[in-house]
Amino acid sequence: MAAPGGTARITFHGAAGEVTGSRHLLETAGSALLLDCGLFQGRRAEALLKNRNFPFPPAYPDAVLLSHAHIDHCGLLPRLAGDGFAGPVIATRETADLLSIMLMDSARLQEADAKFFNKIHAADGETIEPLYGEKEAEQALALLRPCEPGEVVSPAAGARARFLNAGHVLGSSMIQVDFDGPSGPRRLLYTGDLGRREVPLMRPPEPPPDVDYLVMESTYGGRTHEPAAGIDSRLADLLRRAEKTGARIIIPAFALERSQEIIVAFDRLRNDPSVPRIPVYVDSPMAVNITEVFKKHLSGHAFDRDFKAYAGRDGDPFGFDFIKYVRSKEESQALNDKPGPMIIISASGMCEGGRVLHHLRNHIGQENTVILMVGYQAAGTLGRRLQDGQKKVRIFGLEHEVAASVETMPHFSSHADRDDILAFVKGLERRPRKIFLVHGEDSQRDALAEALAAEGYGGIEKPGLGETFVLD
Ligand SMILES: [Zn+2]
Repeated sequence: MAAPGGTARITFHGAAGEVTGSRHLLETAGSALLLDCGLFQGRRAEALLKNRNFPFPPAYPDAVLLSHAHIDHCGLLPRLAGDGFAGPVIATRETADLLSIMLMDSARLQEADAKFFNKIHAADGETIEPLYGEKEAEQALALLRPCEPGEVVSPAAGARARFLNAGHVLGSSMIQVDFDGPSGPRRLLYTGDLGRREVPLMRPPEPPPDVDYLVMESTYGGRTHEPAAGIDSRLADLLRRAEKTGARIIIPAFALERSQEIIVAFDRLRNDPSVPRIPVYVDSPMAVNITEVFKKHLSGHAFDRDFKAYAGRDGDPFGFDFIKYVRSKEESQALNDKPGPMIIISASGMCEGGRVLHHLRNHIGQENTVILMVGYQAAGTLGRRLQDGQKKVRIFGLEHEVAASVETMPHFSSHADRDDILAFVKGLERRPRKIFLVHGEDSQRDALAEALAAEGYGGIEKPGLGETFVLD
């Protein structure tokens, strides 16, 4: 498969002017490579439309190159495999380990959410089908080809790819692709999601190699983050308040990375005698399983040196005396009747599915509930509506009054901010021919485009959904 007439081109089939649904199709003289195959997350009707139909024949790509295991980057693989894609899915070993948890969980969520929606709407007759199930997830997992850091792989004729540490989540990578353009060899770097220069657990991103084309994420292209150093004091403050009021603190957290970062923060606070010891429940079977993968790779190259040293001193940075990992549904439901204070860390991070919806459904109407946002909330998600202060929200199709207080801790971002991105781009010795800004809402990527232009960079593109660019 290839682009016509020996040309090379890239088409942005997702995360173009928004942050979810990353899918970029790179077609060269000899190959068609899909960079990520992410699920679009947002309003149900729009999600159905964008996720159910591929804008290219599903069997068309020669290979999928996967930057990391977040669902908005890999969550449509089961649908792709179910619809006929049979090529290799290349990813790092850590990503591959995580994927077997993420995709199976996503499949179960799709099935459970559809079932629950249909049950609630039995009276009005509205029904939905799950996007995919466990069978399709297994089909996708069978296509995985793990690779080592720095290894050069040949996903298709005339293309060579290399995975470079992106410092965003465990296993996350930038993907470098070398191919023959119509007038000579060309190199493209897709950042995937780029980490900060300083993050709590991961090794910082590798400096970029010189490239002709840069596909750059722009989630926080227009702002700078709170320093991660403020995490412990803010959490300690929250725990002290919760002890006084008996609050139930619900923390919607991505099961991958954010949950582990929060767990490690509570692990650190355990050493501070001035901080009350409030029970912490990790109520997400996926987060529980992913934490096991973190432990498995703890001595590997992905983790930050300081964190490894802390882990060595602590023994188990993901476990302490007042934390409980909740697996069974019965234990999860039992939390409803337990009095506070307590902390419940539960997925999904943007409140779009999973057990956190049940905790919200049951406690969002109570003033003594705190909903603590610690991750990015994409436009159109329930998490964003709560963060925006809406007083009435729909959960599983039913309206709830919001009496709980909603707080946001911006310290935890695992995405580079504007300064991180500018420092990264300046690490290129040679200016790219083009910089494509993806994975950012318009305000953020507009701001980043301006910042890059102010630094003298040209060839900045802000692709629209489905837009194609020739790589000459
Ligand atoms: Zn990500």
